[in-house]
Amino acid sequence: MTVRVTDDNLCSMENKNLWAPWRISYIKSLETEDDQSKRHTSGGPNPNRCFLCGASDVDLTEQQQKDQLVLHRGTHCLLMLNRYPYSNGHILVAPFDHVADIADMTNEQRSEMMELTNVANKAVRIAMNPQGVNIGINLGRCAGAGVPGHVHMHIVPRWHGDVNFMEVVGDVRVIPQSLQESYDMLLEAVQKVLDTDSQSSS
Ligand SMILES: [Zn+2]
Repeated sequence: MTVRVTDDNLCSMENKNLWAPWRISYIKSLETEDDQSKRHTSGGPNPNRCFLCGASDVDLTEQQQKDQLVLHRGTHCLLMLNRYPYSNGHILVAPFDHVADIADMTNEQRSEMMELTNVANKAVRIAMNPQGVNIGINLGRCAGAGVPGHVHMHIVPRWHGDVNFMEVVGDVRVIPQSLQESYDMLLEAVQKVLDTDSQSSS
């Protein structure tokens, strides 16, 4: 099944989003917060852990971090490639803590989130040469947040015609590079940006 936002939809801003039908399986896999609470009260998994918490886990080995597409761990936040991207090279920045809103973050977390957003922006430009980049946060399910309990910044590289092309092909998944290939390119670019930034600040 595919779902498409139409002009009649009340959330008409969604029309400006990339058409990314492969995300439907991801959206469908997400439980509502109510579902999670019910499972938790019946002894199920902790609802206050999500894939961002899993990727933030301090005990992960280097290989486990790679498997989870982690690009960089800061002091309070991490950079990771989105496994269900809107476009090739879609990066996420999130605090380690499972908090729902930027208002719940500490000043240090907010500050580092912006710094790492800058690193991600530079890295996608080095690795993928996009013609533009969308950067933003969705707060709450209605605003489009896939994981509303754990705030995260999206860095989405864009190319002229990417929306139009995907509209034409409809249901076909259009990711021109494999996730692993994108990850390797971005890992190298992130390291390059961090090295350059640390040299210029010393
Ligand atoms: Zn979380």
